[in-house]
Amino acid sequence: MIELKSPVEIEAMRKAAQITAEILAEVSEKVRPGVTTADLDREAERLISRAGARSAFKGYQVGDATFPAVLCTSVNDEIVHGIPSEKQALRDGDIVGLDFGVEYEGFYGDYAVTVPVGSVDVESSSLMKVTEHCLYAGLEHFRAGERLGDVGAAVQAVAESEGFSVVRDFVGHGIGRALHEDPQVPNFGKAGRGRTLKVGMVLAIEPMINAGAPGVVIDGDGWTARTTDTRRSAHFEHTVAITKNGPDILTKL
Ligand code: MG
Repeated sequence: MIELKSPVEIEAMRKAAQITAEILAEVSEKVRPGVTTADLDREAERLISRAGARSAFKGYQVGDATFPAVLCTSVNDEIVHGIPSEKQALRDGDIVGLDFGVEYEGFYGDYAVTVPVGSVDVESSSLMKVTEHCLYAGLEHFRAGERLGDVGAAVQAVAESEGFSVVRDFVGHGIGRALHEDPQVPNFGKAGRGRTLKVGMVLAIEPMINAGAPGVVIDGDGWTARTTDTRRSAHFEHTVAITKNGPDILTKL
């Protein structure tokens, strides 16, 4: 069941989304060689309390597993859901995916970027650029009357035309009074298929694009998803409302 949001609710969601994006922008500024992923998580936690918000991720449960941090930090071959660690210092040439969400006044925002650490190789830089392009190519289809298959097909076409692959194991999602609502928003699919989009839907679209094969393996920590072939992966996300005028990117600063 997909909950449609009123214009008033969408404005309330914009507040949560803007806090999410502002904090993640500040945290991204701290990325440099030598900084640990735990340092980034601490900074995000400090900024959440300064904003009077609440983490969407810390304490999030899937089955028996509880996510222990406010930020997901996914380095190089880590795709998503990496756990920040004191032992994980960023090195020149790394790429790091930062995925972050807050709840504010009853609504959630969800946002992710992948950023370079120092100077990165050509493939990594292309992977990040293409993944961000995938995000925008997908959300361009967030219009009443288009279908989820149109969104997924657009993302997939951009990724595959560059020789990259789309992760199938994780998808985007509806968002609102819960972090994850219906429907699922796959980054692959066939144009003209799937659920029809309507004004008032608010969706988090989040392509995860691998440089090599699309396969995923989960670490022993129960969370960290990484590529099966150890090649790199990038991830970008926006929280987007479908309005009568088309997509309204609530996490856009
Ligand atoms: Mg998300």
